[in-house]
Amino acid sequence: MSILKPYSFYRKESIEHRANDILRQMHKTANFAPKWPFDASLVADFLDLGVVWDYIPPDEEGAIAARILPTERLIEINEEILDKPQGFQESTLAHEIGHWVLHINQDEADGVVQQLELDLGNYGKLRESEEPFVCRGAGSSKIDSIEWQAQYFAGCLLMPKSILEEKRQGRDLTKWSNLYKMKDELGVSISNLTYRLQEFGWISIPKGSRTIYRGSAEVKGQTQLFG
Ligand SMILES: [Zn+2]
Repeated sequence: MSILKPYSFYRKESIEHRANDILRQMHKTANFAPKWPFDASLVADFLDLGVVWDYIPPDEEGAIAARILPTERLIEINEEILDKPQGFQESTLAHEIGHWVLHINQDEADGVVQQLELDLGNYGKLRESEEPFVCRGAGSSKIDSIEWQAQYFAGCLLMPKSILEEKRQGRDLTKWSNLYKMKDELGVSISNLTYRLQEFGWISIPKGSRTIYRGSAEVKGQTQLFG
């Protein structure tokens, strides 16, 4: 057994379910009901995870955004991200919680002294894990998948569909001013918000463009094809 779970493919629905499940349990627990703008450290508290902001020097493979020390139930986040735009800290912490929930073998974490390092650009010790390399299409790898899963989890945790449904009421999502109001109310970054809204197919923003279209890109493509 290793402190890292063997790689597994999670469907989006299953990642969303894990995040919603935690939010639901928090709702049922006194003093833990989630509120928006979201405070991801409340989730860490709920899961009995410590969080410290610290200077983490880069190693020979590059910058390190955060580390999880599983046996100490501790998430250590590089304080260098404190100058990033609002919402970035919440997103980073939610991402690390995603790794904890999806990728850390929590039983093992209680017994083994080992440190798992999670870098943004390079993946340090993760890369040394002996799991087979799994390629899931162009430009994708097992590490990319793990990072994608953690980031998707973060989006689900910070922006549950039910809350977004509430926040979109009476708002024209093709106007940036409305999206900026929404991201402030949610406590997320504008890029996290637009990614999530596009995920639901509520809006689409073509790459390199600032124009927001209603509906998903696929639907528009089909309209063009058959229209
Ligand atoms: Zn990560």
